[in-house]
Parts: sequence; structure tokens; C-alpha cells
Amino acid sequence: MSYCPKCGIKLPKEEGIKFCPNCGSLIHLAWSCSLRTRVIVFLAVLFLCFISTILGTLARVNLTEALRIERDVENLRTAIRVVGVQVIFGNNFMYTMIMFVPVIGPGWGFFILYNTGRVIAAIAAINRVNPIFLLSLLFLQMHAWMEYVSYSLAISESLILTYSIIKRSFKNELKNMSVILTICSIILLLAAIIEFAAILYLI
Ligand SMILES: [Zn+2]
Repeated sequence: MSYCPKCGIKLPKEEGIKFCPNCGSLIHLAWSCSLRTRVIVFLAVLFLCFISTILGTLARVNLTEALRIERDVENLRTAIRVVGVQVIFGNNFMYTMIMFVPVIGPGWGFFILYNTGRVIAAIAAINRVNPIFLLSLLFLQMHAWMEYVSYSLAISESLILTYSIIKRSFKNELKNMSVILTICSIILLLAAIIEFAAILYLI
């Protein structure tokens, strides 16, 4: 809801209104992203996140590199077993925070998801299994979907924040960002608990 800055009456909801119907003063309405646009941007980003991971999965990994990646994954698993669930949450939360940053967030995010694909490619190469089969196993797990939703929320919010800077409406959009950041934190926390249980009891 917006009000005339001069006379203070409640302004009608119609878009593109330039003058106050009461006192006639010029009105600069702050730009805001509609829910419909947010949903479209989110779905497009989610699709690109999957594409990034698939490209990483299909990338060639030589054996030396595959073994190095496998060692890194093993070290991370050991840290998770010893320290606990906060290792998963801490890692994913830090990655997600950077994805929110205007301008650089999307590049960073797609790079992280491409690397996720490379980890799958490395494990597939070492175990001589089809990497796409391994990728499909990842998406049988609930926590993977939850993480991809969080990453996509963060990257799409980065795009909207960047656009809001161009439209000089950055302060307005910060409120939406804090809501989305809270939602991401909750999803990532639940995902970390599910993944931690899987690591402890399944594998
Ligand atoms: Zn007015």
C-alpha cells in the first residue's frame, strides 16, 4: 500500500499512476517485483541449476583429479561424522549466503553446482559406474531437492536485487531478501539434519 508523499492520501492500486488524484503532485512509485515474476525467475534458475550440475557430471575428469576429489569428499564426511550436523549446515549456508550477493551471486552459484556435478563425475569414474545414473541416485534423496530449492531461491533473489539496484529500489527489496534468507536457512537446516541422518545410518 502506498501513500501520497505530499497530502498523504491512500493511492489507488492501479499500476503506472504518475500523479496523485487528490493534490496532483508527481509520484515516484518504488519498483517491486511481482510474485508471478518471482516464481518464473525461480523456476528458470532451478532449471539452470540442474543444467549446471548435469554439465559438471558429463565433464571429463582424469584419474588424478578424480582421486583428489574423492579424498576431499572423504575428508568432509569424516568431519561431518566427528563434528556433526553443523558441518553440513555451515557449508551449505555459507555457499547460499554468497549466492544472494547482487551481480556475483548467480555466477558463484552455477559454479558451485557445476562442481557438484564434477564430484559425481569423479566418484563415477573411480567406481566405473554411469555418472548420470549416480546423479539420478542423488535426486532420490529429499535433502538434495531441498538444497537445490534453497540455492535457486538465493540465486533468483540475487537477480531481483540486482534489478532493484538499477530501478533504485534496493532498500525495498532488502525486506523481501530477509524473508527469503530466513526461508532458505530453515530449509537448509532441515536438509542438513536429513543428510546427516543418511550419512550416519545409511552409508
Ligand atoms: Zn496527494
